[in-house]
Amino acid sequence: MSAVRCPLEDELLDALGRGYVNAELAAHVAGCSSCSELQLVAGALLYEHATAVSEAPMPTAGTVWWRMQIRHRHEVQAAARRSLFVGQAATLVISLILVGAFFGVELTVGLREIVAAVRLSTPLMVTVGAWLLLLLVAPIAGYVAIRQK
Ligand SMILES: [Zn+2]
Repeated sequence: MSAVRCPLEDELLDALGRGYVNAELAAHVAGCSSCSELQLVAGALLYEHATAVSEAPMPTAGTVWWRMQIRHRHEVQAAARRSLFVGQAATLVISLILVGAFFGVELTVGLREIVAAVRLSTPLMVTVGAWLLLLLVAPIAGYVAIRQK
């Protein structure tokens, strides 16, 4: 395939897009095989585009209004979800700080006892590990099951 590209093809495409080809360019197109082929193909495509645009059904005002309402509702819900998420994250951080401030010493002692118990008992360690794994996997599995419906 020989691709001999005429330097005036871009100018011709612009002119066809505007809908007006000046006399100088039209004279060139008449003598240039590449440009005449481009005019034939692009002209057909532009005609199809113009026909499709003119024949496309115009939605009614009620339909446009309804779509705007739905879009607005979705945007408001997304904004509310974002602010709720920020509020929940701030609440979680503050509650963790408060729990650490009030019960930090008792929690440290309790964690040490748990770690000591786990070191002593392998079946307990396996049970706690399985329980933690179940706590992690169950919500993910539920989420995946809901998403696949
Ligand atoms: Zn040409």
